[in-house]
Amino acid sequence: MELYSLTIHELQEKLRAGEVTAAEILASVYQRIDRVEDKVHAYITLMRESAQAQAAAADAAIRSGDIRALTGIPIALKDIYCVQGFTTTCGSRILHNFVPPYDATVVAKLRDAGAVFTGKANMDEFAMGSSTETSYFGDTRNPWDLTRIPGGSSGGSAAAVAADECIAALGSDTGGSIRQPAALCGVVGLKPTYGRVSRFGLVAFASSLDQIGPFTKDVEDCAILMNVIAGYDPRESTSVNLEVPDYRSFLSRGIAGLRIGIPREYFIAGIDPEILTSVRQAIGTLEKAGAKCVDISLPHTEYCLAVYYIVAPAEASSNLARYDGVKYGFRSEEGRDLLDMYKRSRSAGFGDEVKKRIIIGTYVLSSGYYDAYYKKASQVRALIRRDFDEAFQKCDLIATPTSPTAAFHIGEKTDDPMQMYLSDIFTISANMAGIPGISIPCGFTGDGLPIGLQFLGGHFQEGTLIQAAAAYEKTAGMAALMARQKQAKMNF
Ligand code: GLN
Repeated sequence: MELYSLTIHELQEKLRAGEVTAAEILASVYQRIDRVEDKVHAYITLMRESAQAQAAAADAAIRSGDIRALTGIPIALKDIYCVQGFTTTCGSRILHNFVPPYDATVVAKLRDAGAVFTGKANMDEFAMGSSTETSYFGDTRNPWDLTRIPGGSSGGSAAAVAADECIAALGSDTGGSIRQPAALCGVVGLKPTYGRVSRFGLVAFASSLDQIGPFTKDVEDCAILMNVIAGYDPRESTSVNLEVPDYRSFLSRGIAGLRIGIPREYFIAGIDPEILTSVRQAIGTLEKAGAKCVDISLPHTEYCLAVYYIVAPAEASSNLARYDGVKYGFRSEEGRDLLDMYKRSRSAGFGDEVKKRIIIGTYVLSSGYYDAYYKKASQVRALIRRDFDEAFQKCDLIATPTSPTAAFHIGEKTDDPMQMYLSDIFTISANMAGIPGISIPCGFTGDGLPIGLQFLGGHFQEGTLIQAAAAYEKTAGMAALMARQKQAKMNF
């Protein structure tokens, strides 16, 4: 086994036993990057030299007995968090030259835990997309099939983990951007509860929906990263001051006795039949292991997508008003006066998908339309949230497919926004309700593409999600299946 193909917990054991050094782990990961990155294009910026310095510091720390939660572990960061001294582009031309003077809280926490940063991962522009095709820096390919998309918007982070171009990564999820690419790339992705992880230093897309979370190769690594990034931050007003449990303590609790809700609105026509079969099989596996399945209903599910495409663009139009070419980022040099400079900078700085959302958002917030759109959407959002509150009276967690299809081809949906938006039909509701969700691999299509199973939980019940996911992973023998499939399909 090459070091780059191991998990955080496997590498930690080797580091602790003195079998390997952080420098050797990083060299292995970079050897992999050098071999596959021109095919996958998971990264916008590589941080090779600073990573070498961090790995050297990790080795010195280990020698002095200071071993922390992530000492010497190479981690990729979605290019949406501020990292002091490195460009934070958010996949956009308008921020292509923006070098933040400070670290995001999650970045500072990883740094303190001893992590090594491999680079900044590719993403849809301002996290708007489901395929990583709206990035100003070109698309990312799915390592399972290089003619297909990796999902989005955190497609670079998911692809980097799947292709072993890092050991784990962070992404962000506003409507599915962690869980959907995790499903399409065959990795674990968790969107925490709104307020669980600080967003200080995260470039804002839709502030009432955005959350930061991990991409990992297995559920144990997910628990390890959550232990590091979760928690209160006085610099972030929506972060919640609530004790963080040890997520690792949920790993071996098993599934027996847990009640799993099966929402009828999530098992419908239009889903790829191979995905339905695989998810149903996974639920059967959980039942055999002692879980109790209960039928539930989330009656306002059909409105989720419509509500999202009012609320998210509305908030985005407001958040993105700050990019005007004045203090930082791209500025058009052709402006005749201040107003003309604003217009030219924004016209040339933003891509089409972002402009479309700004226009929709401005429209739904404008006087005369606010009540009909934004206010109405906010009211329906409250009903969506209530559906979940009622469902969690009957069950401990909910199981659904993560995405209605496996990875599609590059360009397949770029001219059909409705099809693209439907990619998030099962993930958006969790952001609407602020609840946590995890996607874990549960099988493969006949073409050998990964399929994701999603668990949703009540507010701050990430532990229950990790418990169920770990139990499934073990019972279904996922590690062995994944290793076999990788060997067969990812041979580049
Ligand atoms: N695909 C959805 C969108 O385009 C969700 C994106 C996200 O979660 N950042 O808005």
